[in-house]
Amino acid sequence: MSRLQNLNFNNSYLGLPNHLYQRVHPTPLKNSFLISFNPDVAEILDIDPSSINPTELTRFLSGEQLFPGSEPLAMKYTGHQFGVYNPELGDGRGLLLGEVINPKGERWDLHLKGSGKTAFSRFGDGRAVLRSSIREYLASEAMHALRIPTTRALALVGSEDKAMREGMMEPCATVLRVTQCHIRFGHFEYLYQTQQHEELKVLADYCLERFFPECLETEKPYLAMYQEVAKRSAALVAKWQAYGFVHAVLNTDNMSLIGETFDYGPYTFLDSYKPALVSNANDHEGRYAFAKQPSVVQWNLSCLGQALLPLIERDDLIAVLDEFPNAYKEAELGEFRKRLGLQSIHDGDEKLVLDLLKLFAQQEMDMNRFFRCLSDFDGSENSVAALMALLKLPSALTNWLLAYEERLSKEVASRPIRRAQMRAVNPEFILRNYMAEEAIRAATDGDYTLVDNLLMLLRNPMAENSEFEHYSQSPPGWAGGICLTCSS
Ligand code: AMP
Ligand code: MG
Repeated sequence: MSRLQNLNFNNSYLGLPNHLYQRVHPTPLKNSFLISFNPDVAEILDIDPSSINPTELTRFLSGEQLFPGSEPLAMKYTGHQFGVYNPELGDGRGLLLGEVINPKGERWDLHLKGSGKTAFSRFGDGRAVLRSSIREYLASEAMHALRIPTTRALALVGSEDKAMREGMMEPCATVLRVTQCHIRFGHFEYLYQTQQHEELKVLADYCLERFFPECLETEKPYLAMYQEVAKRSAALVAKWQAYGFVHAVLNTDNMSLIGETFDYGPYTFLDSYKPALVSNANDHEGRYAFAKQPSVVQWNLSCLGQALLPLIERDDLIAVLDEFPNAYKEAELGEFRKRLGLQSIHDGDEKLVLDLLKLFAQQEMDMNRFFRCLSDFDGSENSVAALMALLKLPSALTNWLLAYEERLSKEVASRPIRRAQMRAVNPEFILRNYMAEEAIRAATDGDYTLVDNLLMLLRNPMAENSEFEHYSQSPPGWAGGICLTCSS
């Protein structure tokens, strides 16, 4: 196995046209310390978790020292923010430290978020604050454990340096983000909008080879790549909708080319099902409300499609975009079938799901608690009562439950098997805003144990855990008052 000092770096991004990046080193943070590290991600990089020396890891994440083989760079990209094209974007507070190839031959990007100013920092200070870093660190692991594609995080480091956010000084931190792809829709938008069509082709060829080699076998590789991006994006947003995840800043620069949840900001898991919920106090028009996410993703794909016009025929692009709503609907139905314990496919399934979503909205239900409870449903009075306790008006569930029981009679799996299948996809624990907030408040007072505890809990969210049972219950009253913004 490798150690931090001898990771197998191979930095292919540097071979791309140099307009696509700026070579720049991190600006070290002062008096930094390790808050948490994630053994699962260490293993991806072939690092033996027990070999990690906290002091050494801290030096790498604070920017004091570079991993041997790292050649840091800030990526240039642009994108549509809240529907408006912004040509000035790029890594303004993070750096690609380099790419590590593990023994399986997988190429993983190491990106240090909060590493100081770059050519693309604009008015920003290049830093990430502790609050937002804890949120990103926990969310990426919580999403991964729900099998929702996401970037990962190796570790979280704090510091005595401070940065100003919304009139207050807050402690700085860094997260080492790990994923196979840091290329965003906005990378292509940058090259298209600046009419660098040759470079656009170079980038597309790079992505084909690195992320979509199977598309190279097709007649129209660029089109096949775009189809694959659309398919993965539809599958991703279907999972968000099925688990009540609100990304909150779905700008095209936050859209990963490989269909991962990317750039965690003021995200939320719904405590109660509200389709119009907006999780960013700066999003005054509600552009990124929960229920709008599928159509926003389609709109974002249209921006990517426009940027690929030099490589793909317009009619082909439009056909992919037109197919998106169907692809989304099918993926969404598939997610809900799993959550409902339905292994077979029947005509009425869509209506069963739609009726349930209507009920969720009318009763402002906690969908995740409902599905967990439904996993134990056996038709007994007790199991019906447990479900009904989750509604404001319990009797509103009666008709749906009858339809569900009727539908279950068409399934072949025995009840215990179905229960196990459902409990494997319906988590006991999800990362509610207030949980992250509790960890943030404790951390601000110098106590980081809850960050680690939540990481451990959320890595295994399907299992019961008596120590943290309270986190599987309704959130406390103050949870509704948490205000999130882009700087969150
Ligand atoms: P985000 O909202 O994190 O997706 O960031 C949008 C853009 O603003 C990206 O280009 C970031 O690099 C940049 N940005 C955000 N915060 C800062 C900061 N504190 N300093 C410099 N650039 C920033
Ligand atoms: Mg971003």
